[in-house]
Amino acid sequence: MHPDRRPLVAGNWKMNGLSADGLALAGEIAVRTRAAAPVIEILVCPPATLLATVVGVVAGSGVKVGGQDCHAEPKGPHTGDISAEMLVDLGCSHVIVGHSERRAGHAESDAVVRDKAKAALRAGLIPIVCVGETRAQRDTGNAAAVVERQIQGSLPEGVGSDRLVVAYEPVWAIGTGLTATAADVAAMHLHIRGVVGGTMGGGLRILYGGSVKPENAAELLALEDVDGALVGGASLNADQFWAIVSSCRWR
Ligand code: PEP
Repeated sequence: MHPDRRPLVAGNWKMNGLSADGLALAGEIAVRTRAAAPVIEILVCPPATLLATVVGVVAGSGVKVGGQDCHAEPKGPHTGDISAEMLVDLGCSHVIVGHSERRAGHAESDAVVRDKAKAALRAGLIPIVCVGETRAQRDTGNAAAVVERQIQGSLPEGVGSDRLVVAYEPVWAIGTGLTATAADVAAMHLHIRGVVGGTMGGGLRILYGGSVKPENAAELLALEDVDGALVGGASLNADQFWAIVSSCRWR
């Protein structure tokens, strides 16, 4: 295990949670983190409406807070959008960019994702850049080529491996209950390291995402090139999220 690749378990709450839910869920995670003081990093990415609340609830617990998206520009006429600087201003440390739900639902290209990642870096956030193939792309033997293209098109150049995180999330595994096999995950993470190359490739943290649950977390998180998880559905339940955090050991 690379000494700089401290594991990260991140919860992507997506468009879920009203104030009371956000308070309760973040509060439970903060209490457990304070008590356990885990060496791994724990991040929650609530919807934008809950960011300020969650930042307040987890303050001093060690839990970090991230946005789910940001605009590439620092400010301006972009109705409904949020800039990376605004996320920093709220107390965020990370931002997810290029999630497949945004690539598909908001027509975000690799170039757009790269601009968002650059914006995150400009503001001092750590971007979590998501990549992953569709079922059809995997079934036709194109998964590795698709992910390679996404990595080459979405990652800003000249970034230190400690400033950026990649999440490999096969689209067909997100929210479906289906998970890639450990062998497929291991092969894709190794492939991503090779595509990034050099020192950056070796030190880069690569998370796996796609129906990670307490039942499969230990096997996936034990893989040599898996440095943590990006968790959707299971991150909305404090017990399930904590079970996943607990299966992630600093190796
Ligand atoms: C995600 O949305 O990033 C994700 C991995 O979701 P789920 O865990 O629900 O598949």
